[in-house]
Amino acid sequence: MSLGHDDWLRLAARMSSPRGLFVGGTFIDPADGTPMPVTSPRDGRVLAEVAAAGEKDVDRAVAAARRAFDEGPWPRLKPRERAKHLLRLAELVDRDADVLALSVSLEMGKPISDARNVELAALVNTLRWYAEAADKNAGEIPDAGPDALALVTREPAGVVAAVVPWNFPLTMAGWKLGPALAAGCTVVLKPAEQSPLSALHLARLAAEAGLPEGVLNVVNGPGEVTGRALGLHPGVDVVTFTGSTEVGRHFLRYAADSNLKRVWLELGGKSPNIILDDAPELGAAADTSAWGIFFNSGEMCTAPSRLVVHKSVADEVLERVVARAADFAPGDPLDPVTKMGPVVSEEHLGSVLSHVDVALEEGARVCIGGERVRVDSVAGGGSYLEPTVLDRVTPGMRVAREEIFGPVLSVLTFDTVEEAVALAADTEYGLAAAVWTRDLGRAHRISRALRAGTVWVNCYEEGDLSVPFGGTKLSGHGRDKSLHALEKFTDLKTTWIALP
Ligand code: NAP
Ligand code: MG
Repeated sequence: MSLGHDDWLRLAARMSSPRGLFVGGTFIDPADGTPMPVTSPRDGRVLAEVAAAGEKDVDRAVAAARRAFDEGPWPRLKPRERAKHLLRLAELVDRDADVLALSVSLEMGKPISDARNVELAALVNTLRWYAEAADKNAGEIPDAGPDALALVTREPAGVVAAVVPWNFPLTMAGWKLGPALAAGCTVVLKPAEQSPLSALHLARLAAEAGLPEGVLNVVNGPGEVTGRALGLHPGVDVVTFTGSTEVGRHFLRYAADSNLKRVWLELGGKSPNIILDDAPELGAAADTSAWGIFFNSGEMCTAPSRLVVHKSVADEVLERVVARAADFAPGDPLDPVTKMGPVVSEEHLGSVLSHVDVALEEGARVCIGGERVRVDSVAGGGSYLEPTVLDRVTPGMRVAREEIFGPVLSVLTFDTVEEAVALAADTEYGLAAAVWTRDLGRAHRISRALRAGTVWVNCYEEGDLSVPFGGTKLSGHGRDKSLHALEKFTDLKTTWIALP
Protein backbone atom coordinates (compact mmCIF):
# COMPACT_ATOMS: atom_id res chain seq x y z
CA MET A 1 0.00 0.00 0.00
CA SER A 2 1.41 3.40 -0.86
CA LEU A 3 1.93 5.89 1.95
CA GLY A 4 0.09 9.21 2.29
CA HIS A 5 1.40 12.62 3.32
CA ASP A 6 0.69 12.00 7.02
CA ASP A 7 2.44 8.63 6.93
CA TRP A 8 5.59 10.22 5.52
CA LEU A 9 5.48 13.02 8.08
CA ARG A 10 5.18 10.43 10.87
CA LEU A 11 8.05 8.39 9.46
CA ALA A 12 10.16 11.54 9.10
CA ALA A 13 9.62 12.45 12.76
CA ARG A 14 10.99 9.04 13.78
CA MET A 15 13.85 8.81 11.32
CA SER A 16 17.33 8.17 12.62
CA SER A 17 20.39 7.63 10.48
CA PRO A 18 23.90 6.42 11.18
CA ARG A 19 26.25 9.38 11.60
CA GLY A 20 29.77 7.95 11.66
CA LEU A 21 32.21 7.00 8.96
CA PHE A 22 31.86 3.50 7.54
CA VAL A 23 35.32 1.98 7.36
CA GLY A 24 36.40 -1.65 7.31
CA GLY A 25 32.84 -2.94 7.71
CA THR A 26 31.85 -0.89 10.74
CA PHE A 27 30.91 2.65 11.77
CA ILE A 28 33.80 4.51 13.39
CA ASP A 29 34.33 7.93 14.92
CA PRO A 30 36.45 10.33 12.91
CA ALA A 31 40.07 10.91 13.87
CA ASP A 32 40.41 14.41 12.51
CA GLY A 33 37.33 15.74 10.68
CA THR A 34 34.92 18.40 12.00
CA PRO A 35 31.26 17.22 12.22
CA MET A 36 28.94 18.66 9.58
CA PRO A 37 25.27 19.62 9.87
CA VAL A 38 22.88 18.28 7.24
CA THR A 39 20.24 20.91 6.53
CA SER A 40 16.97 20.01 4.83
CA PRO A 41 15.97 22.36 2.00
CA ARG A 42 12.38 21.33 2.76
CA ASP A 43 12.19 23.60 5.82
CA GLY A 44 15.71 24.77 6.61
CA ARG A 45 15.88 22.43 9.62
CA VAL A 46 19.12 20.70 10.64
CA LEU A 47 18.39 16.99 10.24
CA ALA A 48 21.55 15.65 11.84
CA GLU A 49 25.18 16.30 12.52
CA VAL A 50 27.28 13.72 10.74
CA ALA A 51 30.93 12.84 11.03
CA ALA A 52 33.22 14.26 8.40
CA ALA A 53 36.41 12.57 7.32
CA GLY A 54 39.70 14.45 7.51
CA GLU A 55 42.89 13.29 5.84
CA LYS A 56 43.67 10.68 8.52
CA ASP A 57 40.19 9.23 8.12
CA VAL A 58 40.58 9.06 4.36
CA ASP A 59 43.86 7.23 4.97
CA ARG A 60 42.05 4.72 7.17
CA ALA A 61 39.30 4.20 4.59
CA VAL A 62 41.73 3.76 1.71
CA ALA A 63 43.84 1.40 3.81
CA ALA A 64 40.75 -0.71 4.55
CA ALA A 65 39.82 -0.81 0.87
CA ARG A 66 43.45 -1.56 -0.05
CA ARG A 67 43.63 -4.50 2.39
CA ALA A 68 40.31 -5.82 1.15
CA PHE A 69 41.60 -5.66 -2.40
CA ASP A 70 45.19 -6.85 -1.88
CA GLU A 71 44.54 -9.54 0.72
CA GLY A 72 40.80 -10.03 1.08
CA PRO A 73 38.49 -12.47 -0.65
CA TRP A 74 36.53 -10.01 -2.81
CA PRO A 75 38.59 -9.82 -6.04
CA ARG A 76 39.35 -13.53 -5.71
CA LEU A 77 35.78 -14.70 -5.34
CA LYS A 78 34.09 -16.42 -8.23
CA PRO A 79 32.09 -13.68 -9.99
CA ARG A 80 28.91 -15.61 -9.19
CA GLU A 81 29.71 -15.28 -5.47
CA ARG A 82 30.13 -11.51 -5.83
CA ALA A 83 26.82 -11.50 -7.66
CA LYS A 84 25.12 -13.17 -4.67
CA HIS A 85 26.38 -10.43 -2.35
CA LEU A 86 25.13 -7.71 -4.69
CA LEU A 87 21.75 -9.40 -5.02
CA ARG A 88 21.50 -9.59 -1.23
CA LEU A 89 22.32 -5.90 -0.98
CA ALA A 90 19.66 -5.12 -3.62
CA GLU A 91 17.13 -7.13 -1.57
CA LEU A 92 17.91 -5.10 1.56
CA VAL A 93 17.71 -1.79 -0.33
CA ASP A 94 14.32 -2.90 -1.58
CA ARG A 95 13.26 -3.81 1.97
CA ASP A 96 14.33 -0.38 3.28
CA ALA A 97 13.23 1.59 0.21
CA ASP A 98 10.79 3.77 2.16
CA VAL A 99 13.38 4.86 4.71
CA LEU A 100 16.04 5.42 2.07
CA ALA A 101 13.61 7.42 -0.07
CA LEU A 102 12.74 9.50 2.96
CA SER A 103 16.43 10.22 3.63
CA VAL A 104 16.90 11.39 0.05
CA SER A 105 13.75 13.47 0.13
CA LEU A 106 14.67 15.20 3.38
CA GLU A 107 18.36 15.75 2.69
CA MET A 108 18.12 17.13 -0.87
CA GLY A 109 14.43 17.91 -1.36
CA LYS A 110 13.38 15.38 -3.99
CA PRO A 111 9.61 14.76 -4.02
CA ILE A 112 8.98 11.58 -2.08
CA SER A 113 7.12 9.92 -4.98
CA ASP A 114 10.14 10.42 -7.24
CA ALA A 115 12.52 9.36 -4.47
CA ARG A 116 10.55 6.16 -3.93
CA ASN A 117 9.57 5.32 -7.51
CA VAL A 118 12.53 6.65 -9.49
CA GLU A 119 15.59 6.94 -7.25
CA LEU A 120 15.14 3.78 -5.19
CA ALA A 121 13.89 1.75 -8.12
CA ALA A 122 17.03 2.80 -10.02
CA LEU A 123 19.35 1.73 -7.21
CA VAL A 124 17.72 -1.68 -6.78
CA ASN A 125 17.69 -2.30 -10.55
CA THR A 126 21.28 -1.17 -10.96
CA LEU A 127 22.59 -3.44 -8.22
CA ARG A 128 20.66 -6.38 -9.69
CA TRP A 129 21.73 -5.62 -13.25
CA TYR A 130 25.44 -5.54 -12.38
CA ALA A 131 25.11 -8.59 -10.16
CA GLU A 132 23.85 -10.43 -13.24
CA ALA A 133 26.68 -8.94 -15.32
CA ALA A 134 29.40 -10.06 -12.89
CA ASP A 135 29.98 -13.46 -14.49
CA LYS A 136 29.57 -12.32 -18.10
CA ASN A 137 32.89 -10.56 -18.27
CA ALA A 138 34.84 -12.73 -20.72
CA GLY A 139 38.38 -12.23 -22.00
CA GLU A 140 39.88 -12.83 -25.44
CA ILE A 141 42.18 -15.42 -26.93
CA PRO A 142 43.86 -13.87 -29.98
CA ASP A 143 45.45 -16.30 -32.44
CA ALA A 144 49.10 -16.38 -31.40
CA GLY A 145 50.04 -19.15 -33.82
CA PRO A 146 50.87 -22.77 -32.97
CA ASP A 147 53.75 -22.06 -30.57
CA ALA A 148 52.12 -19.75 -28.08
CA LEU A 149 48.87 -19.18 -26.20
CA ALA A 150 47.86 -15.57 -25.71
CA LEU A 151 45.26 -14.75 -23.05
CA VAL A 152 43.76 -11.31 -22.67
CA THR A 153 41.92 -11.13 -19.37
CA ARG A 154 40.02 -8.35 -17.63
CA GLU A 155 41.24 -7.93 -14.07
CA PRO A 156 39.74 -5.75 -11.35
CA ALA A 157 41.49 -2.37 -11.37
CA GLY A 158 41.95 -2.03 -7.60
CA VAL A 159 40.69 0.54 -5.12
CA VAL A 160 38.04 2.87 -6.53
CA ALA A 161 37.13 6.26 -5.08
CA ALA A 162 33.55 7.08 -6.07
CA VAL A 163 32.76 10.77 -5.55
CA VAL A 164 29.13 11.60 -6.22
CA PRO A 165 26.76 14.60 -6.24
CA TRP A 166 23.53 15.23 -4.32
CA ASN A 167 20.98 15.41 -7.15
CA PHE A 168 20.51 11.62 -7.43
CA PRO A 169 22.57 10.54 -4.46
CA LEU A 170 21.67 6.85 -4.57
CA THR A 171 21.28 6.42 -8.32
CA MET A 172 24.74 7.91 -8.82
CA ALA A 173 26.19 5.76 -6.05
CA GLY A 174 24.60 2.70 -7.67
CA TRP A 175 25.96 3.54 -11.12
CA LYS A 176 29.47 3.51 -9.59
CA LEU A 177 29.16 0.74 -7.00
CA GLY A 178 27.34 -1.75 -9.23
CA PRO A 179 30.01 -2.14 -11.92
CA ALA A 180 32.99 -1.48 -9.61
CA LEU A 181 31.96 -4.16 -7.09
CA ALA A 182 30.84 -6.59 -9.79
CA ALA A 183 34.28 -6.23 -11.41
CA GLY A 184 35.96 -7.16 -8.12
CA CYS A 185 37.16 -3.71 -7.06
CA THR A 186 36.83 -2.33 -3.56
CA VAL A 187 35.34 1.13 -3.07
CA VAL A 188 35.52 4.26 -0.96
CA LEU A 189 32.33 6.23 -1.58
CA LYS A 190 32.18 9.96 -0.86
CA PRO A 191 28.67 11.36 -0.95
CA ALA A 192 28.04 15.08 -1.42
CA GLU A 193 27.94 17.04 1.83
CA GLN A 194 24.23 17.76 1.23
CA SER A 195 23.29 14.08 1.01
CA PRO A 196 25.27 11.83 3.36
CA LEU A 197 22.31 10.27 5.20
CA SER A 198 21.13 7.99 2.40
CA ALA A 199 24.72 6.90 1.70
CA LEU A 200 25.30 6.03 5.37
CA HIS A 201 22.12 3.97 5.45
CA LEU A 202 23.36 2.15 2.35
CA ALA A 203 26.62 1.43 4.20
CA ARG A 204 24.63 -0.11 7.05
CA LEU A 205 22.89 -2.36 4.53
CA ALA A 206 26.22 -3.38 3.00
CA ALA A 207 27.30 -4.61 6.43
CA GLU A 208 24.01 -6.46 6.89
CA ALA A 209 24.36 -8.01 3.43
CA GLY A 210 27.67 -9.50 4.59
CA LEU A 211 29.96 -7.72 2.16
CA PRO A 212 33.46 -8.60 3.36
CA GLU A 213 34.97 -5.85 5.48
CA GLY A 214 36.62 -3.02 3.57
CA VAL A 215 34.88 -3.82 0.28
CA LEU A 216 32.65 -0.75 0.65
CA ASN A 217 33.66 2.23 2.78
CA VAL A 218 31.73 5.49 3.05
CA VAL A 219 33.42 8.73 4.04
CA ASN A 220 31.31 11.82 4.24
CA GLY A 221 33.02 15.19 4.34
CA PRO A 222 33.64 18.46 2.51
CA GLY A 223 34.86 18.17 -1.05
CA GLU A 224 37.91 20.36 -0.51
CA VAL A 225 39.07 18.10 2.33
CA THR A 226 37.68 14.59 1.93
CA GLY A 227 37.28 14.61 -1.86
CA ARG A 228 40.69 16.16 -2.33
CA ALA A 229 42.39 13.65 -0.02
CA LEU A 230 40.85 10.81 -2.04
CA GLY A 231 41.89 12.42 -5.32
CA LEU A 232 45.50 12.76 -4.16
CA HIS A 233 45.75 9.42 -2.35
CA PRO A 234 48.44 7.08 -3.67
CA GLY A 235 46.40 4.07 -2.54
CA VAL A 236 43.51 4.87 -4.89
CA ASP A 237 43.75 3.33 -8.37
CA VAL A 238 40.62 4.75 -10.01
CA VAL A 239 38.43 7.79 -9.40
CA THR A 240 34.91 7.73 -10.74
CA PHE A 241 33.33 11.14 -10.35
CA THR A 242 29.97 12.72 -11.10
CA GLY A 243 29.61 16.42 -10.48
CA SER A 244 30.54 19.80 -11.85
CA THR A 245 33.08 20.48 -14.57
CA GLU A 246 35.07 22.65 -12.19
CA VAL A 247 35.57 19.86 -9.67
CA GLY A 248 36.23 17.40 -12.50
CA ARG A 249 39.23 19.54 -13.44
CA HIS A 250 40.47 19.27 -9.84
CA PHE A 251 40.41 15.49 -10.02
CA LEU A 252 42.54 15.48 -13.17
CA ARG A 253 45.05 17.71 -11.37
CA TYR A 254 45.03 15.51 -8.26
CA ALA A 255 45.82 12.50 -10.45
CA ALA A 256 48.62 14.35 -12.22
CA ASP A 257 50.09 15.44 -8.89
CA SER A 258 49.93 11.97 -7.31
CA ASN A 259 49.98 8.49 -8.82
CA LEU A 260 48.36 9.07 -12.24
CA LYS A 261 45.29 7.19 -11.08
CA ARG A 262 42.77 7.02 -13.85
CA VAL A 263 39.89 9.47 -13.53
CA TRP A 264 36.43 9.03 -15.04
CA LEU A 265 34.34 12.17 -15.24
CA GLU A 266 30.58 12.59 -15.66
CA LEU A 267 30.08 16.34 -15.60
CA GLY A 268 27.51 19.01 -16.31
CA GLY A 269 25.45 19.86 -19.37
CA LYS A 270 23.47 22.51 -21.23
CA SER A 271 21.42 20.22 -23.37
CA PRO A 272 19.44 21.46 -26.38
CA ASN A 273 15.95 20.16 -27.09
CA ILE A 274 15.23 20.91 -30.77
CA ILE A 275 11.59 21.06 -31.85
CA LEU A 276 11.27 21.23 -35.64
CA ASP A 277 8.12 22.42 -37.41
CA ASP A 278 7.31 18.82 -38.39
CA ALA A 279 7.45 17.45 -34.82
CA PRO A 280 5.06 14.47 -34.73
CA GLU A 281 3.06 15.66 -31.73
CA LEU A 282 3.73 19.20 -30.66
CA GLY A 283 1.75 18.65 -27.47
CA ALA A 284 3.96 15.75 -26.42
CA ALA A 285 7.10 17.69 -27.35
CA ALA A 286 5.99 20.66 -25.24
CA ASP A 287 4.90 18.51 -22.28
CA THR A 288 8.21 16.68 -22.35
CA SER A 289 10.13 19.98 -22.46
CA ALA A 290 8.31 21.13 -19.33
CA TRP A 291 8.69 17.84 -17.51
CA GLY A 292 12.35 17.62 -18.52
CA ILE A 293 13.31 20.97 -17.02
CA PHE A 294 11.09 20.89 -13.91
CA PHE A 295 11.57 17.26 -12.87
CA ASN A 296 13.94 17.09 -9.86
CA SER A 297 13.77 20.94 -9.73
CA GLY A 298 15.88 21.05 -12.87
CA GLU A 299 18.77 19.55 -10.91
CA MET A 300 19.54 17.13 -13.70
CA CYS A 301 22.79 17.04 -15.60
CA THR A 302 20.79 16.09 -18.71
CA ALA A 303 18.01 18.66 -18.19
CA PRO A 304 16.80 20.04 -21.56
CA SER A 305 17.64 23.55 -20.39
CA ARG A 306 17.75 25.07 -23.88
CA LEU A 307 14.50 24.75 -25.80
CA VAL A 308 15.43 25.35 -29.45
CA VAL A 309 12.13 25.71 -31.27
CA HIS A 310 11.08 26.58 -34.83
CA LYS A 311 9.58 30.08 -35.07
CA SER A 312 6.39 28.83 -36.76
CA VAL A 313 5.47 26.65 -33.76
CA ALA A 314 7.21 28.58 -30.97
CA ASP A 315 4.10 30.36 -29.66
CA GLU A 316 2.06 27.19 -29.49
CA VAL A 317 4.86 25.25 -27.78
CA LEU A 318 5.61 28.02 -25.32
CA GLU A 319 1.95 28.42 -24.37
CA ARG A 320 1.74 24.74 -23.60
CA VAL A 321 5.04 24.67 -21.65
CA VAL A 322 3.80 27.58 -19.53
CA ALA A 323 0.49 25.79 -18.91
CA ARG A 324 2.33 22.62 -17.85
CA ALA A 325 4.56 24.61 -15.49
CA ALA A 326 1.52 24.99 -13.21
CA ASP A 327 1.66 21.23 -12.53
CA PHE A 328 5.09 21.78 -11.01
CA ALA A 329 4.11 24.44 -8.48
CA PRO A 330 6.53 23.83 -5.59
CA GLY A 331 5.13 21.70 -2.78
CA ASP A 332 6.14 19.79 0.33
CA PRO A 333 8.47 17.05 -0.90
CA LEU A 334 6.90 14.71 1.67
CA ASP A 335 3.48 15.04 0.04
CA PRO A 336 3.12 12.22 -2.50
CA VAL A 337 1.27 14.50 -4.96
CA THR A 338 4.14 17.01 -5.12
CA LYS A 339 5.90 17.06 -8.47
CA MET A 340 8.51 19.67 -7.63
CA GLY A 341 10.09 20.28 -4.24
CA PRO A 342 12.70 22.85 -3.22
CA VAL A 343 16.12 23.25 -4.80
CA VAL A 344 18.92 21.69 -2.79
CA SER A 345 19.92 24.62 -0.55
CA GLU A 346 19.60 28.34 0.16
CA GLU A 347 22.99 28.88 -1.43
CA HIS A 348 21.91 27.10 -4.59
CA LEU A 349 18.61 29.01 -4.67
CA GLY A 350 20.64 32.25 -4.60
CA SER A 351 22.77 31.04 -7.49
CA VAL A 352 19.74 30.08 -9.61
CA LEU A 353 18.02 33.42 -8.92
CA SER A 354 21.15 35.34 -9.86
CA HIS A 355 21.15 33.57 -13.24
CA VAL A 356 17.59 34.78 -13.76
CA ASP A 357 18.56 38.35 -12.79
CA VAL A 358 21.46 38.37 -15.23
CA ALA A 359 19.19 37.01 -17.99
CA LEU A 360 16.75 39.88 -17.44
CA GLU A 361 19.57 42.43 -17.53
CA GLU A 362 20.75 40.88 -20.78
CA GLY A 363 17.31 41.24 -22.37
CA ALA A 364 15.51 37.95 -21.77
CA ARG A 365 11.85 38.02 -20.65
CA VAL A 366 10.19 36.02 -17.88
CA CYS A 367 7.17 34.15 -19.32
CA ILE A 368 6.42 32.56 -15.99
CA GLY A 369 8.07 32.15 -12.59
CA GLY A 370 11.37 33.65 -11.52
CA GLU A 371 10.49 34.17 -7.84
CA ARG A 372 11.16 32.28 -4.65
CA VAL A 373 7.99 31.05 -2.93
CA ARG A 374 6.83 29.77 0.42
CA VAL A 375 5.00 26.49 0.74
CA ASP A 376 2.22 27.01 3.27
CA SER A 377 2.02 23.43 4.50
CA VAL A 378 5.70 23.48 5.51
CA ALA A 379 6.69 25.33 8.65
CA GLY A 380 10.01 27.16 8.51
CA GLY A 381 11.76 28.46 5.46
CA GLY A 382 12.45 26.06 2.62
CA SER A 383 14.34 26.83 -0.59
CA TYR A 384 11.47 26.86 -3.09
CA LEU A 385 11.50 28.47 -6.52
CA GLU A 386 8.72 28.83 -9.06
CA PRO A 387 9.11 26.88 -12.29
CA THR A 388 10.61 29.47 -14.58
CA VAL A 389 10.51 29.99 -18.34
CA LEU A 390 12.57 32.68 -20.07
CA ASP A 391 12.06 33.61 -23.71
CA ARG A 392 13.84 36.06 -26.03
CA VAL A 393 17.04 34.29 -25.06
CA THR A 394 19.94 34.71 -27.49
CA PRO A 395 22.94 32.40 -27.78
CA GLY A 396 25.44 34.78 -26.16
CA MET A 397 23.47 35.22 -22.92
CA ARG A 398 24.75 33.55 -19.77
CA VAL A 399 21.51 31.59 -19.32
CA ALA A 400 22.09 30.08 -22.77
CA ARG A 401 25.66 29.07 -21.99
CA GLU A 402 26.06 28.18 -18.31
CA GLU A 403 24.58 25.27 -16.45
CA ILE A 404 22.01 26.63 -13.97
CA PHE A 405 20.96 23.30 -12.43
CA GLY A 406 17.55 24.67 -11.49
CA PRO A 407 13.98 24.80 -12.87
CA VAL A 408 14.79 27.47 -15.46
CA LEU A 409 14.09 26.97 -19.15
CA SER A 410 15.70 29.19 -21.79
CA VAL A 411 13.83 29.44 -25.08
CA LEU A 412 15.69 30.12 -28.34
CA THR A 413 14.05 30.20 -31.77
CA PHE A 414 15.21 29.49 -35.35
CA ASP A 415 14.05 29.56 -38.98
CA THR A 416 16.09 26.83 -40.69
CA VAL A 417 17.35 23.39 -39.73
CA GLU A 418 20.94 24.56 -40.24
CA GLU A 419 20.31 27.36 -37.76
CA ALA A 420 18.84 24.88 -35.28
CA VAL A 421 21.88 22.62 -35.49
CA ALA A 422 24.24 25.58 -35.12
CA LEU A 423 22.35 26.81 -32.04
CA ALA A 424 22.27 23.34 -30.52
CA ALA A 425 25.99 22.77 -31.12
CA ASP A 426 26.95 26.17 -29.73
CA THR A 427 27.95 24.91 -26.28
CA GLU A 428 31.05 23.78 -24.48
CA TYR A 429 29.09 20.85 -23.06
CA GLY A 430 28.26 17.58 -24.80
CA LEU A 431 26.06 15.49 -22.55
CA ALA A 432 22.70 15.16 -24.28
CA ALA A 433 20.40 16.58 -26.96
CA ALA A 434 17.01 15.84 -28.45
CA VAL A 435 15.28 16.42 -31.74
CA TRP A 436 11.58 16.23 -32.51
CA THR A 437 10.67 15.58 -36.17
CA ARG A 438 8.59 13.20 -38.29
CA ASP A 439 11.47 12.82 -40.72
CA LEU A 440 13.76 10.04 -39.47
CA GLY A 441 16.40 10.84 -42.07
CA ARG A 442 16.55 14.39 -40.80
CA ALA A 443 16.67 13.18 -37.21
CA HIS A 444 19.55 10.87 -38.04
CA ARG A 445 21.55 13.58 -39.79
CA ILE A 446 21.00 16.03 -36.93
CA SER A 447 21.95 13.39 -34.41
CA ARG A 448 25.20 12.73 -36.28
CA ALA A 449 25.95 16.44 -36.44
CA LEU A 450 25.70 16.92 -32.65
CA ARG A 451 28.54 16.00 -30.30
CA ALA A 452 26.71 14.56 -27.32
CA GLY A 453 26.76 11.34 -25.33
CA THR A 454 23.04 10.78 -25.92
CA VAL A 455 20.67 12.10 -28.59
CA TRP A 456 16.97 11.42 -28.11
CA VAL A 457 14.58 11.42 -31.06
CA ASN A 458 10.95 12.28 -30.32
CA CYS A 459 11.43 11.67 -26.60
CA TYR A 460 13.62 12.82 -23.71
CA GLU A 461 15.36 11.08 -20.77
CA GLU A 462 14.41 7.65 -22.10
CA GLY A 463 16.86 4.85 -21.57
CA ASP A 464 17.71 1.62 -19.91
CA LEU A 465 20.60 0.17 -17.91
CA SER A 466 21.71 -1.61 -21.07
CA VAL A 467 22.74 1.64 -22.81
CA PRO A 468 25.79 3.73 -21.89
CA PHE A 469 25.42 7.17 -20.34
CA GLY A 470 27.98 9.99 -20.27
CA GLY A 471 29.31 12.94 -22.17
CA THR A 472 31.87 14.54 -24.43
CA LYS A 473 33.65 17.92 -24.28
CA LEU A 474 33.20 19.68 -20.90
CA SER A 475 30.57 17.08 -19.95
CA GLY A 476 33.41 14.63 -19.35
CA HIS A 477 34.24 11.18 -20.62
CA GLY A 478 33.73 7.57 -19.71
CA ARG A 479 30.36 5.92 -19.48
CA ASP A 480 28.12 4.87 -16.64
CA LYS A 481 25.53 2.12 -17.13
CA SER A 482 25.73 -0.77 -19.61
CA LEU A 483 28.46 -3.41 -19.83
CA HIS A 484 30.85 -0.64 -20.95
CA ALA A 485 30.92 0.67 -17.38
CA LEU A 486 32.80 -2.48 -16.39
CA GLU A 487 35.68 -1.35 -18.62
CA LYS A 488 36.35 1.58 -16.27
CA PHE A 489 36.98 -0.77 -13.37
CA THR A 490 39.06 -3.44 -15.08
CA ASP A 491 42.56 -3.63 -16.53
CA LEU A 492 43.41 -5.65 -19.59
CA LYS A 493 46.15 -8.15 -18.85
CA THR A 494 48.02 -10.07 -21.50
CA THR A 495 49.46 -13.43 -20.56
CA TRP A 496 51.67 -14.88 -23.27
CA ILE A 497 52.45 -18.54 -22.78
CA ALA A 498 55.24 -20.07 -24.86
CA LEU A 499 54.20 -23.63 -25.68
CA PRO A 500 56.80 -26.38 -25.51
P1 NAP B 1 30.16 19.31 -7.25
O1 NAP B 1 30.19 20.52 -6.44
O2 NAP B 1 31.10 19.16 -8.38
O3 NAP B 1 30.37 18.11 -6.22
C1 NAP B 1 30.42 16.77 -6.61
C2 NAP B 1 31.22 16.00 -5.59
O4 NAP B 1 32.57 16.48 -5.59
C3 NAP B 1 30.71 16.17 -4.17
O5 NAP B 1 30.85 14.96 -3.48
C4 NAP B 1 31.62 17.25 -3.63
O6 NAP B 1 31.74 17.24 -2.25
C5 NAP B 1 32.94 16.90 -4.28
N1 NAP B 1 33.85 18.04 -4.33
C6 NAP B 1 33.55 19.36 -4.32
N2 NAP B 1 34.67 20.11 -4.37
C7 NAP B 1 35.70 19.25 -4.41
C8 NAP B 1 37.12 19.41 -4.45
N3 NAP B 1 37.70 20.61 -4.49
N4 NAP B 1 37.90 18.29 -4.48
C9 NAP B 1 37.34 17.07 -4.45
N5 NAP B 1 36.01 16.86 -4.38
C10 NAP B 1 35.20 17.93 -4.38
O7 NAP B 1 28.72 19.02 -7.86
P2 NAP B 1 27.34 19.07 -7.11
O8 NAP B 1 27.08 20.49 -6.78
O9 NAP B 1 27.29 18.09 -6.02
O10 NAP B 1 26.37 18.52 -8.26
C11 NAP B 1 25.95 19.28 -9.32
C12 NAP B 1 26.83 19.06 -10.56
O11 NAP B 1 26.92 17.69 -10.89
C13 NAP B 1 26.24 19.72 -11.77
O12 NAP B 1 27.23 20.43 -12.48
C14 NAP B 1 25.73 18.57 -12.62
O13 NAP B 1 25.64 18.79 -13.95
C15 NAP B 1 26.68 17.49 -12.28
N6 NAP B 1 26.06 16.19 -12.51
C16 NAP B 1 26.47 15.44 -13.57
C17 NAP B 1 25.91 14.21 -13.84
C18 NAP B 1 26.38 13.34 -14.97
O14 NAP B 1 26.15 12.15 -14.94
N7 NAP B 1 27.03 13.86 -15.98
C19 NAP B 1 24.92 13.72 -12.99
C20 NAP B 1 24.51 14.50 -11.91
C21 NAP B 1 25.10 15.73 -11.68
P3 NAP B 1 30.94 18.33 -1.34
O15 NAP B 1 29.52 18.19 -1.64
O16 NAP B 1 31.29 17.91 0.01
O17 NAP B 1 31.46 19.68 -1.74
MG1 MG C 1 29.14 20.67 -3.67
